[in-house]
Amino acid sequence: MSHYQKPPELYDGLRLHQNENTGGCSPRVIEALARLRPDQIGFYPPYAKATAAVASYLRVPVDRVTLVNGLDEGIMALAVAYLRADIGGPQLEAIVPEPAFEIFRFDTAVAGGKLIQVMPRPDFSFPLDEVLAAITPDTRVVFVTNPNNPTGAEVPLDAIGAVARRVPPGAVVFVDEAYAEFAGASFIPELDGYPNVIVGRTFSKAFGLAGLRIGCLVGAPATVDAIRRAIPVYSVNIAATVAIVAALDDLDHLNEYLRQVARSKALLYAACDRLGLGYVPSHSNFVLVRAGDRTDALVKGAFDKGIYFRDRSTEPGCAGSLRIATGIIDHTQRAIAVMEEVLCAAQ
Ligand code: PMP
Repeated sequence: MSHYQKPPELYDGLRLHQNENTGGCSPRVIEALARLRPDQIGFYPPYAKATAAVASYLRVPVDRVTLVNGLDEGIMALAVAYLRADIGGPQLEAIVPEPAFEIFRFDTAVAGGKLIQVMPRPDFSFPLDEVLAAITPDTRVVFVTNPNNPTGAEVPLDAIGAVARRVPPGAVVFVDEAYAEFAGASFIPELDGYPNVIVGRTFSKAFGLAGLRIGCLVGAPATVDAIRRAIPVYSVNIAATVAIVAALDDLDHLNEYLRQVARSKALLYAACDRLGLGYVPSHSNFVLVRAGDRTDALVKGAFDKGIYFRDRSTEPGCAGSLRIATGIIDHTQRAIAVMEEVLCAAQ
């Protein structure tokens, strides 16, 4: 399997293709970074304060939180910990309901696991029966993203519980909640009843910290312990630990972004209706637009004007679809203007 193809490094236009917060982080983060002292940078970073801040934000005991250098690192460590087969043993299986964050596929391959893809339903509702039917004695990980990327569709919490009750002993359900702030729903309050569920969170999206790389895994200590062993000891750097404390101290900044995301989605839906484009109603900070044979023209036309959308057409069930981040209202308005311009010019 080929490796993950990072989107090209485009930083001089409007980045609506990687679901980032294009408004950036809280100014308090910048202030906190500016206060960093040379000795702090000279030492390996302490994690207690940042872990406590994250635990308090997520309302869980500190021993349930493991910080990671971006959720990407957490997913790789989880794949290595749970999918690496014993010598002579069977290949272990990872179930991925598609379309999904592509990293699940690639990390499964790196860990030597066997990828079991569950194909999407036409409306992208969570395929619970199909996922349950895909579970075997060799299942070790079920990857669930709520809300999903790239569709923005939500997964009912009881469906996650149903999967967790069905997987064999020794398997885990990984609930990727990279976009949970936008949906307002989380499996974290259910974790007490599900020691085999691990929730992943990131501060890249809603908190605008993607450039600093910080996320966390949340779950029963015994379940997360195996993963901790696969995470480099000091993988989260001092800047990220300081930034997260400052970011969590400014929830007004977060809430203002969430308000803009909600308004942006409404604006984009209305534009799609006007332009005769379909879309998947989103619980996240992006929208999958179903543009059919106009997808390529939209992505390329916007690109030429310095606005980046992500063509998702090659993902399962996503033929003729592009994904557009819907964050800062002004940025969404620019996206809509370019869509109108491209489609009108094509007529
Ligand atoms: N999970 C999902 C579903 C994502 O979309 C992303 C980011 N694209 C990540 C995890 C990784 O986030 P991070 O920046 O924390 O590595």
